[in-house]
Order: sequence, then structure tokens, then C-alpha cells
Amino acid sequence: MDNNTVKTVKFGGSSLANAEQFRKVYKIVTSDPDRRYVVPSAPGKRFKEDAKVTDLLYACYDRASGGEPFGEAFAQIRERYDGIIKELSLPLSLEEDYAEIESALIHKIGRDYAASRGEYLNGKILAKYLGYDFIDAADIIFFREDGSFDSERTNEVLSSVLKRHDRAVIPGFYGSMPNDTIKTFSRGGSDITGSIVARASLSVLYENWTDVSGFLMADPRIVDHPKSIRTITYRELRELSYMGATVLHEEAIFPVRIAGIPINIRNTNQPEEEGTMIVSLCPPDGKSVITGIAGKRGFSVINIEKDMMNQERGFGRRVLQVIENSGICFEHLPSGIDTMSVVINTADLAPYRDMVINNICTAVDPDAISIEDDLALVAIVGRNMVNAKGTAARILKAAAEAGINIRMIDQGSSEMNVILGVDESDFEKAVRAIYREFEE
Ligand code: ADP
Ligand code: ASP
Ligand code: MG
Repeated sequence: MDNNTVKTVKFGGSSLANAEQFRKVYKIVTSDPDRRYVVPSAPGKRFKEDAKVTDLLYACYDRASGGEPFGEAFAQIRERYDGIIKELSLPLSLEEDYAEIESALIHKIGRDYAASRGEYLNGKILAKYLGYDFIDAADIIFFREDGSFDSERTNEVLSSVLKRHDRAVIPGFYGSMPNDTIKTFSRGGSDITGSIVARASLSVLYENWTDVSGFLMADPRIVDHPKSIRTITYRELRELSYMGATVLHEEAIFPVRIAGIPINIRNTNQPEEEGTMIVSLCPPDGKSVITGIAGKRGFSVINIEKDMMNQERGFGRRVLQVIENSGICFEHLPSGIDTMSVVINTADLAPYRDMVINNICTAVDPDAISIEDDLALVAIVGRNMVNAKGTAARILKAAAEAGINIRMIDQGSSEMNVILGVDESDFEKAVRAIYREFEE
């Protein structure tokens, strides 16, 4: 069969949360014969207070590994799947799988294995419902000994396996280690699996179906009805998703970007909407200056002061060497003539705080050093910012008018983003104020 029109489609947890959602997915997949490879997540929340199956599986694992009974949470998981099977009248029983998973939990077989069963079981149901082949992700997605994803081996094996399957369901989120144990990506990782499958199947498009009508200019949980973004580049998207716009996993762009496959974010509940296209290049369109705003809480800043620091060779390197030796990564490095600040995720720094401070003192003998916590970072991203004069001034003015104290400002060298550091308590106010300034 000619591969040229193949599409890979990924459905998130809310898109497969119950039988009604499965029916919507069925309609979407079968309405376009090119939608040949389907990547499902585990069932997500059906309503706000509901539990995601993945979280129930983690709970089972935690209880089982503590030697406690986990029957209640496990019964909830079974109910979710059996309810879907029954309502869709599928000729399928998962009893054998349940027994195997229960026994694995009792034998403490692994946290990642436990979590991965959410996608595994949902994939089996979806394959049956669609009449597609089922391919276990453990057989085609590989990690290396050190836990990193082995993209080349995966692509080689998966490309040849897919040639034998015209239409298939491949569960998201997990793969296998060299010793055949199961490993998952980080949370939200089914987006990555979708991207891997799109690359290996030479798809012309990777559709990522979720519960919002595309990538929005800001988090809809912070800003009411933010505008939807029509087209965005991989680079902009990576900046925004890394900085907290969780609609797509921050690593999901890599496999498709290599192959130049666009991603289309779509809404399972409003399939008529076009959603957002993510592409490698789109020319500045001169319309909106910024593409989107995102942000994250939970950062700390190490402030280092020393007179004539700028003339001391190797100063920055020695500070960063201390950070590196502690095995942590830094986020930003705003600096002045006699000051240098290192912004680090608070949770990553926590175990090494005292050690890092002491070692920096030994390494560079500063005049003063302090750590400030409770910092939130807000990223303002846009490919049109390069050509728009006064963008930083507009951002600062909007923040000042909302009464926000700016603790840090950093303009990326690509001139595609500005990062503000604000008090955590001002985080949402800052996002709203900046959104309003640039909303057109
Ligand atoms: P899925 O289960 O389909 O993978 P996720 O919950 O991972 O869906 O991602 C979709 C959610 O991301 C939305 O419901 C929304 O609350 C959140 N979100 C955060 N920032 C943005 C943004 N900029 N645009 C769209 N959605 C966003
Ligand atoms: N089910 C996994 C999670 O909840 C992966 C995903 O949804 O993409 O994180
Ligand atoms: Mg997700």
C-alpha cells in the first residue's frame, strides 16, 4: 500500500475516558481511511473529581509495594474497563490480563510496569472496537541501559513491523528496557509515542486529539477563553510546552521534527474545529506579536555578588561546575556586571542546597550569596517578537500596571522569548495581565 497519505492519530485520556468518548473516537478514526495508526492513552477523568486510571495504577503499586491490600483501587480499574467493554458490547474479556497484573503487583514487579497497564488494556479494547491489529509497545519502543530513549533502534524495528500491519493500535506511554522490563516515559508521555509512530510510519500528519480546540494562547485554567493559535512552529511550541503549557508533552516534537511531519492538535469533543498546526517554519505574519504565554511555579534563585566579577576569568564556569557536580540542571542565568544569578528548580535543588552554597563559596569566594525561593517563571513566546519594537516594554508595563513585582527578566538570545521571574503569589495575575496586553 502507498504510504503517502498515512496519518497517525493519538487520543488522550479524556478522549477515551468512557464508552461515549470511545464512540466519538470511532467516528473520528473511521471517517478518514488514512487514519491507520492509532495511539491511545489510558482512560482519564470523566468529570473533575474523577481519578485517572494511571493514578489508580500508581496507587495500587504503592500499596502493594508497602505490603498493603490494593483490592479497592484495582476493583475501580476493572470497573472502568469492564464498563466500556459492556457498553460497547465488545466480544472481549480482560480477565486473564487482570489476573496477570494483580499477580505482578503482588510480586512487586515494577512501578513503570504497573502504570503502563493503563495504556496496554485501553489499547486492547480500542483495537477490538476499531477492528485494528494490536501491537504491544513493549515490542517496538526501546530504551537504553541508562534509561534514555533509543530512537534509532525503535525507528528501525517499528518501521519494519508497521509494514506488516495495515491498521494498528499501539498503546502510548511505555516501551521496554534491554532486560525486557517495562519502562514508561514521564507523565503525559503518550504524546511522545504518537510522534514516534508518526515518524516510523512515514505519516503525512500526526493528529493529537485532546479536550481543547488546539493550542491556546494561554492556559485556559488561568485565562478565560484564551484565543486559539492557528499555526505555531516546533520551536515556539517546545518553549511553551517546556514552560508549562502541558497540552503536548515537551519532548513530543523531536521524532516528528526530524521527519518534517506537522502535528495537528484537535478536539475530540469538537471534531469540526481545525485546531492548531505545528510546523517547522511559518513566516512572521505580522499579525500578533506574541504566539503564547506559559509559566511554571517552583523555582529558586541563587544570587552571587562579587566586585569586579566581570574581570575574574572562569568565574561563571566555576559556579556552573558546582551546579553540574551536584547533578542538577539550571534554567536561567541572568547576570549583571558584579552579580550572577542561577535559577534552578526548587525541588531539584532541595537535597543539595547547603552543599551547593558551600561549594560556590569555596570555588569563587563571593562578597555575598543568597537563595530566594517562591519564584514563578512566565515565558512570553513569539516568532514575530524579533521584528516588533518595544515588546519588552509592553510586557513590563502590563506587569507594572497590575502591581506585579518583577524579580528577574531574561530575553532569550533567539529573541523569540522573554522570561519573567515573579513571586509565586503573582503568577496567575502576571499571565492574565500580559495576555490582555497582547490579545488582539
Ligand atoms: P490529554 O489527556 O488529551 O493528553 P492533557 O490534559 O494532557 O490532555 O492536555 C490538555 C490540557 O492542557 C487542557 O485541558 C488544558 O487544561 C491544558 N493546557 C495548559 N496550557 C494550555 C494551552 N496553552 N493550550 C491548551 N491547553 C492547555
Ligand atoms: N496515562 C499517562 C499519564 O497519565 C500518559 C498519558 O496520558 O499520556 O501520564
Ligand atoms: Mg496529555
